[in-house]
Amino acid sequence: MSINVGILAIQGDVQENIDATKRAVTELGLDGNVIPVKTPEEISNLDGLIIPGGESTTIGHLSLVNSSLKKIKEKIEKGMPVLGICAGMIMLSKTASDRIIGKTDQPLLEFLDIKLERNSFGRQRDSFQADISMDSIDIPVFNGVFIRAPSVSDVGSGVQVLSKFNDKIIAVKQGNIIGTAFHPELTQDTSLHKYFVNLVSTSRN
Ligand code: GLN
Repeated sequence: MSINVGILAIQGDVQENIDATKRAVTELGLDGNVIPVKTPEEISNLDGLIIPGGESTTIGHLSLVNSSLKKIKEKIEKGMPVLGICAGMIMLSKTASDRIIGKTDQPLLEFLDIKLERNSFGRQRDSFQADISMDSIDIPVFNGVFIRAPSVSDVGSGVQVLSKFNDKIIAVKQGNIIGTAFHPELTQDTSLHKYFVNLVSTSRN
């Protein structure tokens, strides 16, 4: 059976995620469609969704205005797997606050039971790459690309910490919801996209 994986195409790293997800589907030998999605109608047909990195306030406001935020909420409530990358993880969090300007009034999906700090590692010029590991999902080494990245300062009891860097939590999983502070689509390594596509495929069966 074919799976439909959507990439939320409102703002941010859309094409890079389409490419990485297509490679992941092919490498896994699965039958799958990878589609950019914007409208509630497009989102309603999905088996899994990636919310890419970009600017979370923009993604939040535009998806609120076109009602896709509401549709994404409904789908996640029904168990659809979702991968939130950087701004995407911010969107999935229950509370987000900027390291410098504090709490902002931005629309969030409010699923991940985490306390999130935006721009936790500094500004654009403080972007960096570092080797990280996600042992609990069998990814021992991964090249983490951090761009104005958030970090997680606290997690609720239902949240599994997948990775830390310099004592900061940078990847989490809560049921079928995964959040990463770094950008897996900006490396050649498809391990994390493959992990997610597998989750989509097994959740559907
Ligand atoms: N700092 C951005 C935000 O708050 C996220 C950066 C990113 O997605 N690379 O939305």
